[in-house]
Amino acid sequence: MNLSPGPDAGKIIIAIDGYSSCGKSTMAKAIAKKLGYRYIDSGAMYRAVTLFVQQHGLSLDDLQSMSEDQLEAMLDHIHVAFHINPDNGHSEVYLNEINVEKKIRDLKVSDWVSPVSAIPVIRHRMVALQQGYGNHKGIVMDGRDIGTMVFPHAELKIFMTANKEVRAKRRFDEFSSKGFMVTMDEVLKNIEDRDFTDTHRSESPLRRAEDAIILDNSNLTEDQQLDFAMKLINEICSK
Ligand code: C5P
Repeated sequence: MNLSPGPDAGKIIIAIDGYSSCGKSTMAKAIAKKLGYRYIDSGAMYRAVTLFVQQHGLSLDDLQSMSEDQLEAMLDHIHVAFHINPDNGHSEVYLNEINVEKKIRDLKVSDWVSPVSAIPVIRHRMVALQQGYGNHKGIVMDGRDIGTMVFPHAELKIFMTANKEVRAKRRFDEFSSKGFMVTMDEVLKNIEDRDFTDTHRSESPLRRAEDAIILDNSNLTEDQQLDFAMKLINEICSK
């Protein structure tokens, strides 16, 4: 009998949820890097599905009027995967073997992604894939329902929030740095619309898991946020 600890010994699952543009992915990536864990951006999966829908000329109305069987058939043609970019070490999303990491961040995808992700059949398929990534622990996943639905038994759950203006400014700066032409008003409206749709949908709406620790990062630097998370992780791992 092999009694040596397995490769997952001591590793945990970290679930990070919260409103749009709260800096979830920045913190999740930093934690994953520090711990040597895998980072999975669950929002990128819904964005990739949204991009597929747009590339195939479907409207939101078309999608919302599709039967469950039709949606399942569409999803059978969508292969979403993450691969590490050797140039920057980041986990990037692929749609049907094509790197779409940049394309899925534009405002057109951002404007559609919340209604697309509210469709139950689409959620079920993505949640099953996300849960598969957790089979080996040692994972940081961010999203809207990670602590409530995807990994309800995650050892650490953090719920991030920040004031709306701070979030809009961060997202605006991110768009600008990537060369996307958008106005501050468009960014703010997108954030408000997504928060509304995400918190009001019937299928696993965005909400804080009861055992999630709240982190309001309106006035925190990235290093302060990482320190906050690392303290919690060290407490859990030293038990
Ligand atoms: O995280 P990000 O802002 O890229 O996510 C895009 C959208 O995908 C969210 O606004 C939300 O509608 C949806 N999403 C979700 N559940 C997740 C992650 C993202 O519904 N776990």
